[in-house]
Formats: sequence, C-alpha cells, structure tokens
Amino acid sequence: MIIVLGGGPAGRIAAIRLASAGKDTTLVESSGIGGQCLHSGCMPVCALNDAARFIRQARVFRNLGITTSYPSIDFGTLQKEMAEIQQKIAAILDKETRDAGVGIVYGKHGRLTGRQAYIADEPVECEAVIAATGSRPNVPKIEGIGLHGVFFPPTLPAMRQLPQRLAIIGGGVMGAEFAYIFSAFGCDVTLISRGTFLKSVDRHLRSLAIKELEGVEILENTPLLSLEGCSQVSGVRINGGGGEATIPADAVLVAAGLVPRSEALEGVCKGQAGEVIVDDHMRTSVPGVYAAGDVTGPPYLTPVARHQGTVAADNILGIDRAMDYRFIPQSISLSHELAFCTTGTEGTASMAIPGPAGPGTFWDVPAGNTGLAKVMVEPESGRIAGICAAGPGGGLIAGYLAFLMKEGYTAHDFEEFLEVHPSTDGVYGLLKYASAMLKKRNAR
Ligand SMILES: Cc1cc2nc3c(=O)[nH]c(=O)nc-3n(C[C@H](O)[C@H](O)[C@H](O)COP(=O)(O)OP(=O)(O)OC[C@H]3O[C@@H](n4cnc5c(N)ncnc54)[C@H](O)[C@@H]3O)c2cc1C
Repeated sequence: MIIVLGGGPAGRIAAIRLASAGKDTTLVESSGIGGQCLHSGCMPVCALNDAARFIRQARVFRNLGITTSYPSIDFGTLQKEMAEIQQKIAAILDKETRDAGVGIVYGKHGRLTGRQAYIADEPVECEAVIAATGSRPNVPKIEGIGLHGVFFPPTLPAMRQLPQRLAIIGGGVMGAEFAYIFSAFGCDVTLISRGTFLKSVDRHLRSLAIKELEGVEILENTPLLSLEGCSQVSGVRINGGGGEATIPADAVLVAAGLVPRSEALEGVCKGQAGEVIVDDHMRTSVPGVYAAGDVTGPPYLTPVARHQGTVAADNILGIDRAMDYRFIPQSISLSHELAFCTTGTEGTASMAIPGPAGPGTFWDVPAGNTGLAKVMVEPESGRIAGICAAGPGGGLIAGYLAFLMKEGYTAHDFEEFLEVHPSTDGVYGLLKYASAMLKKRNAR
C-alpha cells in the first residue's frame, strides 16, 4: 500500500496517479478534500473577485451614464453561495478520486516518524509515503492577534458582514487580491506591507497593480506593532514614516503569506521555516518517503503543488522524473489577470519592451483600460526571458508562453504567429517587434 497524507492539490493528484497505475493507495485527509485551494485559497478569492469585478464594472457603466443604478453587495449571501459551491466541488473531487481507485480516510490525522506512517496513531505498513500536508497562514507573533474581528483566509467565512474599515496585513499577491475585492465591496481598505508592496513582481506590473488598487491606502515599509482593542479589534498599531500610529479598523485580514504545515512529519530533514527538504525527484531524506506541494516550501502555487505530486508519484512508480522550476507562470487577480512569467534572467536581457496589452485595446472599452504587455528578450539569441500580460486572458497567455519559453522559443519564432484580434494580443506584437529590432541590430 502507498499512503498519501493530505488531500489538497498535491496529495490528491499524486494519489490518483498511483491508483490509476494499479497501486493500492490510501489518501488520508484530516479536513476537506481539495485542500486550501478549494476551501480557503484560489476558489474563494476567485469567487469574491468575480463579484468585485462585477461591482467595479457596473460602477464604470453607471458613472458614464450608460446604466442608471449602482449594484450593492449582500456579503452574507455571497458567502453562503460560495460555501455551497465549495461543497459541490468537494463532492466531485471525492468521486473523481474514488473512481480512480483511491481509498480515502477522512477526519483523521496522518503522521510520520521516519519511515513509519500512522493514521490516527495506528501504525500502517506501506511501501512508500507521500507527505502532502500543505501549508497554513503565517500568523504574525504580535499582541492582539487573537482578537475578535481578526481574520485569516481559512476563517474568512466567519465574517458575517462587511466591515466599514478593513486593515489588510501583507503586501504580497494575496494582500493585493483581497484589497481589490474588499475595496470594490465598498470597505475603506488600508493595506500594510512590512516591505515594498509586491516586491518580487515586475516593476511595470507593480505600478499597474497600484493603479488598479486606486482607493486602497497602501502603507509600504511599515512594521506592524500590535492589534488594538478589548475583545473586538479596533485598530492596527504601526511604525509609519512619522513614527508610531494607530490605523482605526473594524476588522483585520491577515494575508501575510503561508508557512509549511509539517509538524506531523517527524524524522525527515526540514528547513528553517519547517519546509520538508526534497530533491528534484521529491524524495525526502528518508528513503521511501516523498513530499510534495506547499509542505516543501515556496512557491505556494496550486499548479506547482500538483506537478510535484505527479513527479513524486511517477518516481514511486519507477518513472524517472524531475521538477523544473525555471518557468512558472503566475497571476495577480485584480480588475484583470496581471499575469507573468519571469525567469530571473531578465537582468541580462537588454530588450525589455512594455506596451499596452492590445493594439487598439478593444477590450474593457468603457473603462479605458489598456492593461500591460511586456516582453524581455535576450539580445543575442532572441530567447524570451520574461513576459507580462495584464488584461483579460492574461493567465492563458502567460501559461502558454511559459511553456514555449521552456521549450526554448525565441522572439523570431513569433514572426509567423497569427493572433486573434481583437484580443489582448499585445505580447505577440511586442515579440514580433523585438524580433525585427534584434535582426536589424545584429545585422549592423
Ligand atoms: C488566499 C489564498 C489564495 C491563493 N490563491 C492561489 C492562486 O490564485 N493560484 C495558485 O496557484 N495558488 C493559490 N494559493 C495557493 C494554493 O492554495 C496552494 O499552493 C495549494 O493549495 C497547495 O496545495 P497542497 O496540496 O500542497 O496543500 P494544501 O492545499 O494546503 O492541502 C493540504 C491538505 O492536507 C491536509 N492535512 C494537513 N495535515 C494533515 C495531516 N496530518 N493528516 C491528514 N491531512 C492533513 C489539509 O487538511 C489539506 O487538505 C492561494 C492560497 C491562499 C491561502
């Protein structure tokens, strides 16, 4: 038997892969199948963002006089509908997983001591284990963090009504996405970032994100000191540019990153943050024990977690496979997808061309959005070193281009490329432009 601990994206996909190959596979899930992605991450953010975009769009149309009223949000109903859809999706995932031949044990904690796996303290004999216990929100160690009115992504369903003033802790992608959502819902949002807001994101995309977050007060390089209040949170104490200050808040949403959830995994080598150390085959320090997904540390992304699960499963099945982290497409969901795939080699690329996301920008016409397209190309070879595509469908563009970048495609390969128009086709135009420029330059 093979034991998989955790039924999130990493564990579920690994278990399906193993069972489909004929292995007797048991998946142990202490909570709900689908993991964070379905229950407190991608899905809720996506659902809330759908409503936020609708509200923003409606506001644009109303302000232009095209429509005659502003919609308002019934947050309780939105939360209820979202929970029902999550249950439906969980039931589908459960069926799909069982149909593949996986046995699922719900409601029990699995754990490991070296090579020995346990299900709720019962030792189980198994030929291999995949630890896919995921991550949990990073909880800042500050006074007041346990006050009522302080939420984390998994506890957001407990927010019964929209706060008038919401403080968001965290200047990463998660913080930006929640800031967009709650600001669209009409809350006064202050986002508090310990360092630079979206510091690891391309500077042009970052500027666009700040523009799309118009109305959100973004406090950068601002250490958080404590949360204030008696039993209910009433403010956030910060160390701002002008010294210590309190930001009044009716609620606080902590979106300060994720940390690996590895306390049930004893005997395997771990890093400083508790992440399970793995090699590129997802093998841990204990023979026969593999780990996949967020429990192995960043990047905390569902497609990466799934892929790691597949790689772990394949290696157990005797198929030699390694992870390649060079080309990972990502996206920030605001008014549109601010998608990108950057490789860290852009610094050496002398050609970085930003432009609007679509010639003529025949999308989001009433709002007058132009989005952003940007390509970074290595000047000698023409290889694509990075792309940004912010606009409708940006995520699709980034996903496919990341794949082509991995395959070694160059800007020159796009000379014969035919895009669909109108669409957010700016990236392709820029690649063609880069190709022409490089040919001219290299001919000199
Ligand atoms: C707010 C938010 C937004 C996000 N948005 C995106 C996004 O837009 N795109 C994206 O790609 N990623 C996003 N993510 C990240 C994504 O959710 C994670 O990377 C992904 O869920 C990781 O999958 P996983 O299987 O490794 O872990 P998890 O999803 O954390 O699943 C682990 C599972 O293991 C179970 N478990 C834990 N311990 C045990 C145990 N001892 N025994 C049995 N079961 C156990 C848990 O109950 C859980 O179901 C977001 C995350 C958050 C919090």
